[in-house]
Amino acid sequence: MSYVDEVIEQVVKQNPAEPEFHQAVKEVLDSIRVVIEADEEKFRKEALLERLVNPERQIKFRVPWVDDNGQVQVNTGYRVQFNSAIGPYKGGLRLHPSVNLGIIKFLGFEQIFKNSLTGLPIGGGKGGSDFDPKGKSDREVMAFCQSFMTELCKYIGADTDVPAGDIGTGAREIGYMFGQYKRLRGLFEGVLTGKGLTYGGSLARTEATGYGLLYFTEELLKSHGKDIAGMTVCISGSGNVATYAAQKATQLGAKVVTVSDSNGWVYDADGIDIAALKEIKEVRRARLTEYKNYRPNSEYHEGRGVWTVKCDVALPCATQNELHLEDAKILVANGVTAVCEGANMPTTLEATEYLLSNGILFAPGKAANAGGVATSALEMSQNSERLSWTFEEVDTKLKQIMVHLYHNVEDAAKRYGFEDNFVVGANIAGFEKVLDAMLAQGIV
Ligand code: NDP
Repeated sequence: MSYVDEVIEQVVKQNPAEPEFHQAVKEVLDSIRVVIEADEEKFRKEALLERLVNPERQIKFRVPWVDDNGQVQVNTGYRVQFNSAIGPYKGGLRLHPSVNLGIIKFLGFEQIFKNSLTGLPIGGGKGGSDFDPKGKSDREVMAFCQSFMTELCKYIGADTDVPAGDIGTGAREIGYMFGQYKRLRGLFEGVLTGKGLTYGGSLARTEATGYGLLYFTEELLKSHGKDIAGMTVCISGSGNVATYAAQKATQLGAKVVTVSDSNGWVYDADGIDIAALKEIKEVRRARLTEYKNYRPNSEYHEGRGVWTVKCDVALPCATQNELHLEDAKILVANGVTAVCEGANMPTTLEATEYLLSNGILFAPGKAANAGGVATSALEMSQNSERLSWTFEEVDTKLKQIMVHLYHNVEDAAKRYGFEDNFVVGANIAGFEKVLDAMLAQGIV
């Protein structure tokens, strides 16, 4: 059996009941197979892949807090410090009832390669909790965040591990966590990114993942002789990534016709009203059923269905495994040109394979959504030099990073004979840098 297959088999055996982690490992190792098999004995002797798929450290802890009825609640907190070969661990904190160790490990593993692709010195990590901020009062969210940070603060720091936001962790949660870290450690430092602008946050961080996704998509289309202006775009999700993806797509002259949440989806043939979307989601924290009040001609549908709408570009921006094989089939039948992932691993493996085999331009999240973490790294730079850059400075750097990242991925795919396979390109380009750093640092 080949070394790659042996390690995939081991991962499944040693990490039972972690299907998302198996999926992520399989996707990455399958892609870098050509690199490994070119010098298999050397990599096997170095146990390079075993070191890559085992986190340097994984921390699991109890998070007790008191709800508004005086009842003590207990959640589980996680931080997986996956790989620090090229820099301090970096990756978000997900607060969602679906969170478990396997999901955090899949996200942390993907993060290693994504962070490497940005060209910036950041290692891979991820964390979170099964706490659900939805429907909780501000006081309850603060109680949870303070308890969570009371434990987490022992393991993180501006030069060791710098968490950020993710699903369920927005500006409010980052603020409460930062306050508690500062109080406990007595340090005002860039230990978290996604901070508020008055205490060390970076302009354009809020917009970065969605904007970066569009800079990547625009470059991808451009290098295939197409222009995003005038194209119809379907977006899933209506959170941070989806909202700013919709905003930038609209600014670039495309028409975004859908957004969704976990209950249903909106179709607006005239183009999603970004101001209304922000008002509903960011200000009032309400559901998408409200959208019709702002745009009477739009349609609201319960359940899944975003991918049934005809579009040129599909941008899944909600969560993992939300675009299935049957969705991919409809997208292809409807003539989609590109599918670019704003969320992490939103497309199932079968759907990805179907899109690739039908010649669709498919950009994996680890490349296409890397603008968020890249801008987090820019926030770290600003914190280190105790300066704040303007929105335009950060946005310009973000665009440069995404354009460069696209060409890096495209080149890696070409070099190994997988032209236009951006899954292989992204994994190889991300892996090469980490590999080099791991080999240089010896057996650690
Ligand atoms: P938000 O919490 O702001 O938004 C998440 C959106 O996805 C919401 O609309 C939510 O709907 C929907 N959603 C969540 N879970 C499900 C589900 N199980 N089924 C259907 N819809 C769901 O998160 P972000 O926008 O920050 O993150 C979205 C994705 O992008 C995630 O995969 C995240 O890891 C990834 N990402 C985020 C980055 C960032 O900078 N924020 C950076 C890189 C990647 P509802 O409100 O109903 O829950």
